[in-house]
Amino acid sequence: MHWSLVIAKDIVERRKEKEHVVATGITPSGDIHVGNLREIITGDAVCSALVDMGVEAKLIYVADTFDPLRRRYPFLPEEYEAHVGKPLSEIPDPEGRLSTYAEHFLQPFLDSLTDLGIEITTFKADEMYKSGMYVDVIKEAITRREEISKIIGQISGRQVSDKWTPFNPLCDACGRITSAVVTGYDMDKEEAYYECECGNKGVASFKGGGKLAWRIDWAARWKILGVTVEPFGKDHAAPGGSYDTGKRISAEIYNYEAPYPIPFEHILLKRKEREGTKAKVTAMSSSLGTNIPVHEMLETIPPEILKHVILRVRPDKHIEFDPGLPLLHLIDEYEREIGGIGGGVAGKIPFRHFITLVQIARGEFSELLKVIKRSGYEVHADDAEEMEELRKKAVYVANWLRKYAPPNVKFELQSALPAEEIKSLSDAQKKALKRIAGELKEGTSLDASAWHNKIYEVASATNIEAKEVFKAIYVALLKQPSGPRAGWLLASLDTKFLKRRFEAVGET
Ligand SMILES: [Zn+2]
Repeated sequence: MHWSLVIAKDIVERRKEKEHVVATGITPSGDIHVGNLREIITGDAVCSALVDMGVEAKLIYVADTFDPLRRRYPFLPEEYEAHVGKPLSEIPDPEGRLSTYAEHFLQPFLDSLTDLGIEITTFKADEMYKSGMYVDVIKEAITRREEISKIIGQISGRQVSDKWTPFNPLCDACGRITSAVVTGYDMDKEEAYYECECGNKGVASFKGGGKLAWRIDWAARWKILGVTVEPFGKDHAAPGGSYDTGKRISAEIYNYEAPYPIPFEHILLKRKEREGTKAKVTAMSSSLGTNIPVHEMLETIPPEILKHVILRVRPDKHIEFDPGLPLLHLIDEYEREIGGIGGGVAGKIPFRHFITLVQIARGEFSELLKVIKRSGYEVHADDAEEMEELRKKAVYVANWLRKYAPPNVKFELQSALPAEEIKSLSDAQKKALKRIAGELKEGTSLDASAWHNKIYEVASATNIEAKEVFKAIYVALLKQPSGPRAGWLLASLDTKFLKRRFEAVGET
């Protein structure tokens, strides 16, 4: 049974609600990356499992657009120093394309979710505050400040200062949401009075003039949105952490049962800095730049593979994500066990084989079609949909080769005989290639397994080891001693071309 179904069954057993709201979310302060995706894919899987069980469930996504910019990250220009402390929804897009800083990072991610086939209802925190959705919970938090600080003290073990308030006003002079101290309230007018570090004294409306401190905000949101299930990173789940605090605030202040928690481990990025070095494992971090943004990953692999990377591992196990060869192995596994990538003929050609074909075709689509045909697949050039699927797969492959492929997967078909390298071949190797050339008939072709058998036959007839023949073939065609599976490679090439090339080797 898949873990998502195990969790869904447990939810139904433990919770009294008949309809479920599965909440996910993020603070869009930097690129939303593959590591961040675990939360939403976990939420989506559990939500779908509930629906499959006949239970009403929906997935929501809350973007913390009203959170402050914590510091100027390395990817930000110097002038963004002035924006530190302001809400992300009130800072301009660093590239000037979209309306705000928050949108800049949020929009590509939301587009990726469409590609991933994940249906969600999105809430933006700044809009929720500005619309007045938080007014009641803010009043409740302010009125019961004492109780809340006691809970925080008991759970986290840290003493809350006398000046602390659960509400952080947004200063109307300096624009920061992190530096004002509340000096008084008027519950009827629904506003707070504050003094800011910048010297300003002002009035903050409960309707968008400030926000609740994080631990209270989280609990308040559960009530406002009716959240019943929530996956979150294991850091929040630590004893004395924000979930423990939120759970008590939710029950004691808001009279609301905290959602069913699904803590999950991190996705770590495993990458070689350069060839020949050992792969390093790092946490994915937007601020450190050790991450791969979701939208970028989706240019390289199809959405179903990205989902598979996450869904195949139980949430309580960490994932080491290596976009190089290990990702290719995962794609093989997916195609073997679940299904081909792409519709029509594209889905029939294994991704690994496609990597060979695209390289033989040197990225030319019309050449690729010929190469595909030669390797024994039927291609219908007049079928627009089929062409589109092939094109898409070719783009994935080209991007993977460019960004993540290790050197030993890459090759270049040599248009001329690599004369210098051929000198390294033994007479027996040359003889074997000459013999192959002699047996090839122009106008006919062999498939991959026929090629494979032929190499073994020729090796035994010429009395050398098959691996020596393979090596000679790679050198003659690719100017390197190894390459992709020889059967595939040879089957994708024109017989006339091969005959001439192998004859030429025999004549050296
Ligand atoms: Zn100020």
